[in-house]
Amino acid sequence: MIRRLYQGVPGVADNSRQEALSLCPSVPLSLESVAEGDTLHEECGVVAIHGHYDAARQAYLSLYALQHRGQESAGIAASDGQRLSNIKGMGLVSEIFTDDVLAKLPGHMAIGHTRYSTTGDSALLNAQPIRLESAKGLIAIAHNGNLVNLGNLRSRLERDGAYFQTTSDSEIIVQLIAHSIAGSLVDAIADSLSQVEGAFSIVMMTRDRIFAARDPRGFRPLSMGRIRNLDGRDTIVFASESCAFDLLRAEYDRDVLPGELVMVTEDGVTSRQYSTGVPRSSCIFEHVYFARPDSKIYGRWVQESRDQMGRQLARESGVPADVVVPVPDSGVTAAIGYAEEAGLPFRFGLIRNHYVGRTFIEPEQRVRDFGVKLKLNPVHNLLEGKRVILIDDSIIRGTTSRKIVRMVRGAGATEVHLRISCPPTISPCFYGVDTPSKRDLIAANKTIDEIRQFIEADSLAYLSLDGLYQACGGKAGWCVACYTGNYPTQWVDVEDILPAGAAV
Ligand code: SF4
Repeated sequence: MIRRLYQGVPGVADNSRQEALSLCPSVPLSLESVAEGDTLHEECGVVAIHGHYDAARQAYLSLYALQHRGQESAGIAASDGQRLSNIKGMGLVSEIFTDDVLAKLPGHMAIGHTRYSTTGDSALLNAQPIRLESAKGLIAIAHNGNLVNLGNLRSRLERDGAYFQTTSDSEIIVQLIAHSIAGSLVDAIADSLSQVEGAFSIVMMTRDRIFAARDPRGFRPLSMGRIRNLDGRDTIVFASESCAFDLLRAEYDRDVLPGELVMVTEDGVTSRQYSTGVPRSSCIFEHVYFARPDSKIYGRWVQESRDQMGRQLARESGVPADVVVPVPDSGVTAAIGYAEEAGLPFRFGLIRNHYVGRTFIEPEQRVRDFGVKLKLNPVHNLLEGKRVILIDDSIIRGTTSRKIVRMVRGAGATEVHLRISCPPTISPCFYGVDTPSKRDLIAANKTIDEIRQFIEADSLAYLSLDGLYQACGGKAGWCVACYTGNYPTQWVDVEDILPAGAAV
């Protein structure tokens, strides 16, 4: 998918046009997004394993724990030191990797990937890991994030004779490595990573080495852990979130640092900073919504942040009510914090069906708000006659929120007060989160009271930005661009940040 990107915000900085590839392009295919077009999606999860006799199975277990980061395709590449095998498929991790399939991935090293993807053949072609033969040897690569300055790099590489097999940014990184004049592989990787701009957490594998790296601003998470083995040789593991370590009984060691390149070989772990001095801007929305509450990312438990978001929300915008109800699943932890702080009962007044797939047979007669009803159902006896505080983590277009408010009221609630555990989403993301353009973000185009009217709630309040910082342990080091419109990089898509009604 080609996107037009501009370096610099109009009127603020240089407007020279650039063209770039959106590297992990996502057409969200979950039922909710197909039916409602009103949710945000992370685009990938990555894992890497070094020093385990059945590394592919460990990668499989890790990917299983990261399934929430992408459900459209998954892949695992494994190496036994000589042969590097790679298997990818469309669907869930457990559907693709049966015992028979895992048996075809022998070796003590593996990397894996799970993602949202485009539809059609190109989806499988661009599924990761990508394995490429290069002048520097065979390399498999998988990444999470979104690179933005690749158009020029790709043209330059093609002029230098590079032949691209995919439209993925991962391949551009491999081609940069292959064409680097640096003497050693690790120097070539460092050289290549310093040429790309954007958000990325990357795992790479050659026949005998694993590499893991984060972009200089540390947008996307990547943790390192280890399994302590009886023979004294630790298995080293990397994953987008630390929840992936638990199934492996791996200990969380530390985060890969922004701008750090870690290499794991038979001789152990070595590390270098390929970039320094760039201010950190880690995605705060990982703590609001994407990451699992049982993960520790950017050195902080997600559960703790969400609990504090709920408490802070109760302090900032409490309202007389009978019960606090989360919009499951991601609103649950904040709702527990809110209820405790407000001294109100917490109840699961909405039940989520976890088995809703992408395809469904619609009833003959179109049911109003069918998509949301298929996914969520109210518990009538908990809501009837009650003043309800609903806790959710975002309002994107507003259509889903309105359906949920209607659903709760339809179940007999006398009042419905919606509380959002982050500030209004007013600007799109260019760093790996699939957001609509500004003209489709309701908070970019309406006041809070207008949104309240649109979603038909009795009251509506968002967590303040200061409250969000406080809940996440402080102000420093976060990207909050989707709440402020102030982007930490100069690369933005001008069309996407135009308000409704404006033309390019
Ligand atoms: S713009 Fe928002 S979603 Fe994107 S990286 Fe920044 S905080 Fe995260």
